[in-house]
Amino acid sequence: MQHPAAESAQPLVVYGASSLHYDFGAHHPMTPRRFGPGIDLLRALGAERFLAPPEVSDAQLHRAHEPEYVSIVRMLSEYPDAGPMAGFASSGDDPAFYGMHEAAATVAGGSVGAMDRILAGEEVHVFHPGGGHHHAMPGRASGFCIYNDVALAIGRARDAGHRVLYVDLDVHHGDGVEAIFWNDPEVLTVSFHETGLSLFPWTGFVDDSGGPQAQGTAVNVPFESGTSDASWLEALEMIVPALAAAYRPTVLVTQHGSDSHMLDPLGHLQLSTIAMSRAARLLDGLAHEYAAGRWLATGGGGYDLYRVVPRAWGLVWLAQAHRDVPPETPAEWRSRWAAEAARHHQGPPPDTMLDPPDLVPVEPREVAEHNLTAARTALRRALGALERQTAG
Ligand SMILES: [Zn+2]
Repeated sequence: MQHPAAESAQPLVVYGASSLHYDFGAHHPMTPRRFGPGIDLLRALGAERFLAPPEVSDAQLHRAHEPEYVSIVRMLSEYPDAGPMAGFASSGDDPAFYGMHEAAATVAGGSVGAMDRILAGEEVHVFHPGGGHHHAMPGRASGFCIYNDVALAIGRARDAGHRVLYVDLDVHHGDGVEAIFWNDPEVLTVSFHETGLSLFPWTGFVDDSGGPQAQGTAVNVPFESGTSDASWLEALEMIVPALAAAYRPTVLVTQHGSDSHMLDPLGHLQLSTIAMSRAARLLDGLAHEYAAGRWLATGGGGYDLYRVVPRAWGLVWLAQAHRDVPPETPAEWRSRWAAEAARHHQGPPPDTMLDPPDLVPVEPREVAEHNLTAARTALRRALGALERQTAG
């Protein structure tokens, strides 16, 4: 039964002042500065429903993390110079910072709290732009991620008896979420990412398809450097609806990292916001078709803070709100952030929500062929394994 009030409401956005506390320092690419232009664009598009994320308890963190790791994070959170340990190193991707346990437990609480509301029938779609910390491992920090909020939210749904479809669109392989549910047949993880041959975390190959008890429930679709919208969208539209039809999830959890955009400084894919918008709308359709609308979307990576991240978030929100994409970005939003962008030597807020179709380069034929071969192989294997699992 769907909650009638929830269905008519606009999506809930998880964001509050404490979202800004997750901060590795001024020169780190994952800066809370992203929330300024990002949340402001959501408000300018009409977002009015916000939830300040609560902190999760240690007991809740233990669903995905080793107790010893949580203790280490707590200790480094008070004494950031005590490392390096457990993935934290001052010279690496994850420098320990003062208060990081509380900051990361609040990111986790945002996704877990969102899932609790979805499971209670109070919300249908929730968007947590500060979530999506998909690299965090049971016993170590990795790739700007401390606690795996996505895995914790998935665990919550799974422990309540749901079958979860997780779709990860970040340019980096969703390795932490995959590892945590590697051998769990009730969670299907699907990651679209730049190939591990050229990008961190160097994993996520087509052959990696789940543990012995859960064959076919990890799906990896690696893309070649230089991929643009055409083959990425073709692979997405080929794979995700077919997997949903075979697996019949009852909850969707998604990660919309916008570091796959051609303007992003970290990855080497060449997507535009057209592909991102199409992807979000496809996932919305699947949430309604299979899961009575139950859908938690998270933000994830994205490091071009004025040109890309805000519009990527806006397009997820618009898909969840079932609203058309306006052709232009709000003029007052652009004027509010142009000076700050210039001050940080970043490109100015763009005029349009969707990039002009000729922004992205045409893919080399061998790149597209390579991608689609990988996609077909990943799909064939997953469907075969899921069928055998159902039969057995
Ligand atoms: Zn919807």
